[in-house]
Amino acid sequence: MAQVETSVPVKPLSVAGESLTTKETRVVRSPWDGASVAAVPVVGALETRAAVDAAVQAMATPLPAHERAEILDRAAIATRERREHLARLLAREIGKPLKQALMEVDRCVQTLTFSAIEARTLAGRGIAVDAHPAGIGRRGYTIRVPIGVIAAITPFNFPLNLAAHKVGPAIASGCGTVLKPAGVAPLAAIELVDLLHEAGLPRELLSVVTGPAGEIGDVLVEDERVRMITFTGSAEVGWELAARAARKHASLELGNSTPLIVCVEADLDAAAEAAAISGNGFAGQSCISVQRVLVDGRVHDDFAERLLAAIERLKVGNPEEDDTDVGPLIDEEARTRVEEWLDEATESGAERLAGGTVDGGHLRPTVLDRVPTDARAWKREIFGPVLALRPFESLEEAIELANGTDYGLQAGIFTRDLATAITASERLKFGGVTINEAPTFRVDQMPYGGTKESGNTREGPHYTVRDMTEERMVVIKL
Ligand code: NAP
Repeated sequence: MAQVETSVPVKPLSVAGESLTTKETRVVRSPWDGASVAAVPVVGALETRAAVDAAVQAMATPLPAHERAEILDRAAIATRERREHLARLLAREIGKPLKQALMEVDRCVQTLTFSAIEARTLAGRGIAVDAHPAGIGRRGYTIRVPIGVIAAITPFNFPLNLAAHKVGPAIASGCGTVLKPAGVAPLAAIELVDLLHEAGLPRELLSVVTGPAGEIGDVLVEDERVRMITFTGSAEVGWELAARAARKHASLELGNSTPLIVCVEADLDAAAEAAAISGNGFAGQSCISVQRVLVDGRVHDDFAERLLAAIERLKVGNPEEDDTDVGPLIDEEARTRVEEWLDEATESGAERLAGGTVDGGHLRPTVLDRVPTDARAWKREIFGPVLALRPFESLEEAIELANGTDYGLQAGIFTRDLATAITASERLKFGGVTINEAPTFRVDQMPYGGTKESGNTREGPHYTVRDMTEERMVVIKL
């Protein structure tokens, strides 16, 4: 909610090359204790249009590849130097436990570094035009040109690294960008923009806007100079934006209901540990937090016992303490929604094995057993510290259950059987499959993205730069 609160320091935005503050601000509050962290300006259509204007003009003077790469390298170094500060900011801003916040900062360094590599190596290729008789006497090759101004819209849960996954490749590609971070979590993204400007990026090439999402989104969708919308967030918002932006390139990274299959011969301790950490770290608020655990019925009880023990070892508490694993949910609305879905699951027959009680800002890690497949806690994305168990009788049934969702981002399987691992990797309809590893695994250079409702792209600097550049064919008649 926008409000004027003069006692809270206001973090200026960089819009169209200017440092901007407004009278109306929005206060960012810690989900842990509700304390104000900082306030940000509230801007709208006017400022968003100015940001697009500036990006178009700045793109008219392209930076050479070595400069784009050096800016990204310098920004990566500056991010590493501010590691502790940025991690503490994430812990305050979104309640991300400090050790996970440090990992996000480290990943941001990697994302910027991999983007620099792409800036250095971006190139077209030679085409043998004379492989067709009509091409004789000609030479042909492709070049990659920036797609145009990019609108980058990011969610609250990885506010630093997911912004880097968009602005890093945009810089590598030579595109101007207007970044719109999540309303509840704009601070880390604003710092990333400042850091890139300090690293030498012309300020007009990258603006950051905070304010009413609908108003800003309308400008970004309707302005035809914006050629690409790169969106990470919920499926509901993402697909709706893409439908409205039919003439633009829309790249979507959306949610999941992440399954993990545990086979009879698997290392049950490793699987239990992976499920406990992956399902509950950052209170399950990652798009690839394990949510559904499919366990071979012969080891179901044994696995459940080990899982409950692994969950007991997690520390639930203040995200700013070094050893906390599970912090608060982002806000009251999220807590209410998750509780409602838990009640729905238990009313329709699921058994609660652990957790579920609200404790201050926390929902304690919750385990549900035998969750009906039509319950929202099973088939939709719960985005909370909840694991829903179901036994299976055959690999076929496990794969069918895992695929029984509209989502398709990442899935995992624990097995010691090679044929089972290979069969699962080929039949699970997800953008990524992990074997003997939690499906929360991601390193930033890998192609990451979903099928079905989970999205339509693969993110990772190499892939994103291809999305943000167009291939242009050049033919020379000799
Ligand atoms: P969200 O509610 O969809 O919001 C995402 C972004 O969209 C925010 O910046 C939001 O702004 C903006 N937005 C909302 N309505 C808009 C509109 N009409 N026009 C333009 N922008 C609009 O998602 P969230 O709750 O922040 O994040 C959680 C979701 O992100 C989960 O579904 C999660 O799975 C997904 N996610 C996916 C990935 C992936 O890589 N696949 C990674 C991380 C998260 P406001 O905040 O100002 O409303």
